[in-house]
Amino acid sequence: MTNEQRYEQLAALDKKHFLHPTTAIAQQQASGPEFIFTKGEGVRLYDLKGRSALDGLASLWNVNIGHGREEIAQVAYEQMKTLGYCSSFASFSNEPAIKLAAKLAEIAPGNLTATFFTSGGSESNDTAYKLARHYWILKGQPARKKIISRSRSYHGVAMGATSATGLKPFRDFTNSLAPDFCYVDHFSTDALREKILEEGPENVAAFIAEPVQGAGGVHIPPATYFKEVRRLCDEFGILFITDEVITAFGRTGTYFGIDHYDVVPDMMCFAKGITSGYAQLGGVMISETIHNDLMELSKGTLLHGYTYSGHPMACAVALKNLEIIEREGLINNARNMGDVLLSGFKDIQKKRSIVGDVRALGLIGAVELVKNKATNERFEEPIAPKVIAEAHKRGLIMRSVVFDQQDTLVFAPPLIINEQEIQELITLLHDSIEAVEHAIT
Ligand code: PLP
Repeated sequence: MTNEQRYEQLAALDKKHFLHPTTAIAQQQASGPEFIFTKGEGVRLYDLKGRSALDGLASLWNVNIGHGREEIAQVAYEQMKTLGYCSSFASFSNEPAIKLAAKLAEIAPGNLTATFFTSGGSESNDTAYKLARHYWILKGQPARKKIISRSRSYHGVAMGATSATGLKPFRDFTNSLAPDFCYVDHFSTDALREKILEEGPENVAAFIAEPVQGAGGVHIPPATYFKEVRRLCDEFGILFITDEVITAFGRTGTYFGIDHYDVVPDMMCFAKGITSGYAQLGGVMISETIHNDLMELSKGTLLHGYTYSGHPMACAVALKNLEIIEREGLINNARNMGDVLLSGFKDIQKKRSIVGDVRALGLIGAVELVKNKATNERFEEPIAPKVIAEAHKRGLIMRSVVFDQQDTLVFAPPLIINEQEIQELITLLHDSIEAVEHAIT
């Protein structure tokens, strides 16, 4: 059977049996899978039809150490062979989970010293909301239930995570949400103060924010924003949670996104880059203060746990992944290559009439598309999906964000990317934008 025939056969099965996540069903049914990936190596993915593509989004902002790492496969194999699974409930534990929790305490900001493990970002966020509310019950303030989140935020698709997500289309997907969530404008600390007062500080459990908003369009906060957030949370006794699902483990050029802002949260959610996508793992770190309070005040059982909390293979993979990030200096590389990426974006901005604002912090960045640079006027219909289609033809993967009147291309390549590969990304991006510009103007 030729690869073309294999593709046709698999595409038919895909359409019939595979319900894809976060996908336009009608479009998927009409066109089938554009790429059926068969291999990944470094910053590239390869598909069944023999095409290669530069992975400009590290797949889903997560493949920090790049594709095809044999060391990771070896560690997973060894761990599965010796202990494929065990429970972490009650008095059971395992060496990789213990060592990973200790390693996280070493690298995390401030006094974040204890970790609750999950299988991904959504579970981590739901865990944080539940731990925050449970904490306030133990502290004798059970009215503190409300979770405040921000416009343009994305916290995942579990019931709590969806309810906290500021991007409205995700909340509108079903007609019922979890109670006790409310929202504020994404960079306004005045709005946060007003919202806290409107809800009553005695009713607010926590405020959650991504250090750099990712899926909502890569929005980098003003330098002083998080200092003021921390001050407000302290003033009103509210827990401050950072959602570092995208920004942790070097993505922004520091170990954690919040490190840029010299602020320590009370809880920190992570996932994705902890294993660079090689295994399903996430978690929530809590401060030593909260941990001590839990240890002192908790009389019953912490009734929250996932079957895969502290999964030995996933934790062994995470330890190796962090070793690689440190050994290969990938955090510094993210910072240095981030500068190259941003200057490439600026070159494109100069050359192309439909490019508006461009931004990056380390290796997370965005390019906005506009009808009129001077006035920032947008096209009636977003054109970012057209640019994506051109990029796919040329072998570049990235993502468009069209929520909330945006028309934006977002990027987060693997942290191993080198200068030559960044230049290739920039050239492919430029050519894709140019093709659309010529077609529409
Ligand atoms: N939080 C943030 C900031 C994210 O970007 C994501 C996913 O992109 C999530 C949470 C949800 O993570 P997961 O898809 O692993 O559940």
